[in-house]
Amino acid sequence: PPTEGRPDVIIVGGGIGGLSTASALAREGLRVRVLERAPEFGEVGAGLQIAPNCTRILDEYGLLDEAKELGVVPENMVMRDALDSRELIRLDLGELERRYGFPYMVIHRSDLHGLFLRACREAGVDLVTDQTVVDYENTDGGARITLADGHTEEAPLVIAADGLRSVARQKLVGDDVVSSDYVAYRAAVPIDEVRDNGIAEKDVTVYVGPRCHFVQYALRGGDMFNQVAVFQSPKALAGKDDWGTPDELDAAFEGTCETVGKGIPLMWRDRWWQMMDRDPIDTWVHGRIVLLGDAAHPPLQYMAQGAIMAIEDGWVLARHVSRLRAEGAAGSAVDWDAALAAYEAVRVEHCRRILTTARAWGELWHLDGTERLQRNAIMRGIDPAEYAFTDWVYGPTALFPDEEPPMFRPIPLASADVEQSETAVSD
Ligand code: FAD
Repeated sequence: PPTEGRPDVIIVGGGIGGLSTASALAREGLRVRVLERAPEFGEVGAGLQIAPNCTRILDEYGLLDEAKELGVVPENMVMRDALDSRELIRLDLGELERRYGFPYMVIHRSDLHGLFLRACREAGVDLVTDQTVVDYENTDGGARITLADGHTEEAPLVIAADGLRSVARQKLVGDDVVSSDYVAYRAAVPIDEVRDNGIAEKDVTVYVGPRCHFVQYALRGGDMFNQVAVFQSPKALAGKDDWGTPDELDAAFEGTCETVGKGIPLMWRDRWWQMMDRDPIDTWVHGRIVLLGDAAHPPLQYMAQGAIMAIEDGWVLARHVSRLRAEGAAGSAVDWDAALAAYEAVRVEHCRRILTTARAWGELWHLDGTERLQRNAIMRGIDPAEYAFTDWVYGPTALFPDEEPPMFRPIPLASADVEQSETAVSD
């Protein structure tokens, strides 16, 4: 039997991935210890879109009702052209909920993070801040971590949920982050400040434009309005280190439609997010050290699935733990090697699909000239009730590879006929 007081699992990183996994494993009766580098648990940033593949999991955890009270369930997801504001595609989110059984919602990051923090406390997770993990190694039957102050800790399993710049990823894989040359600005403002801007309060709206896009939706029961402005930085393309600065923000959105133009001055200008991802990798499990969340698969955020993938990772792992204990393991002993193999078998491929689709999606959104018009023509021709687009993302999270629906492949731009009248709009 495991030593009294010793954790079954150590999780490095108390972001949305680390905390959601910690509460899921603690619900299975495991002793879980979370080590977070920051002096307090928390989240920076503004809104987060939570699709049905995640609200399904929140419901299972008993957190969905509270999440809905804290967030907003929008009516539609609408994509518009950022230059002429023409509607390209409209997804009825009520229909989407009927299709998948769970809502598409938006929530403030700190509210979702807070829900998982409370769930961890209720489930008895040992939560420790001011702990910077600097090294990892496998031991006989487990893994050991070393902290910045030199002390070490051990457990049968160590989960590295330490984000995009993961120390574990550096040590175990050694690859680099990939810069996209795009940068994101965020802002969440009182809704009264934007009511005259031509906004759609009940919708998630994405304006796609040449080398830029702009996202809007209401938050916190409709009292706040979230905006994300993303653009390609000329300074990044020129190889400069100091890229994505506010002067570039203003220049990037010159010439966009009125609603977008009115939103730009409201963006927070003291902080911005240079957008990076990593190439997909096949191996997340290294002995008893396993990567999870952004440490395993940081995406460009165009699919709005980054935090969701992290939450799914934890859910899948916990389900396999439950299955493998039910099949005969006693006490808190888990067949970790089998659980980790099952986790890796299903999650690696799913997340690879999201990462590569997010990159392709970004290219499609940011097109200019004739390609922009071809894209618009294709988008306007899509039947939103044709759920082949969304089944593989928004359907139930697969526990085994054969449960994954086929992946939707985007239509080649060359297949679009662009009307002459539209070409006139382009220049
Ligand atoms: P993180 O949130 O990065 O957490 C890592 C944690 O580990 C941090 O708390 C950090 O302090 C800690 N840590 C790091 N190193 C150490 C160490 N050495 N020792 C101890 N602790 C350490 N996702 C969605 O699902 N929907 C969206 O709509 C969406 N929109 C986005 C918009 C933008 C502009 C961006 C940039 C991202 C968006 N994402 C979205 C992606 C999402 O934010 C991330 O994928 C998600 O937060 C990753 O969670 P994580 O817990 O894996 O990593």
